Amino acid sequence: MPLEDYKRKRDFSKTIEPRGEVKDSNENVFVVQEHHATHLHYDFRLEVQGVLKSWAVPKGVPRKPGVKRLAVATEDHPLDYAAFEGEIPEGEYGAGVVKIWDRGSYIPEKITDREIIVELRGEKLKGKYVLIRLKDGKNWLLFKKKEEVR
Ligand code: MN
Repeated sequence: MPLEDYKRKRDFSKTIEPRGEVKDSNENVFVVQEHHATHLHYDFRLEVQGVLKSWAVPKGVPRKPGVKRLAVATEDHPLDYAAFEGEIPEGEYGAGVVKIWDRGSYIPEKITDREIIVELRGEKLKGKYVLIRLKDGKNWLLFKKKEEVR
């Protein structure tokens, strides 16, 4: 088991040190940042090939299936942006307060230029999410998939 010694020496119910989550090689990071810019929106970001693929979702990422939301593709962001919270100063691009709304890992099921299916494992967002690109533009539809009956 990775980090065995590290974990054995610490009682994480008592120390505030990192618990030493080990990243599954098949797991990637996602984050949703609440961004109080000119218009409040939520930035949905998925780690893909070393960068954060990003979309601005004006109405936020739905927590229930059946709700479709517009997601506008924005520029790729660096991976460490997933930890960013703070205030972008007035006059700068995206000026306003950024807060992490949810974050976690995801398992990719399908990632192409037109369609993305991922299983999110966040605090708030859990389950399969689909992004479908509309025509050849920047607009995508984002929704949660209905639970599969097993
Ligand atoms: Mn933004």
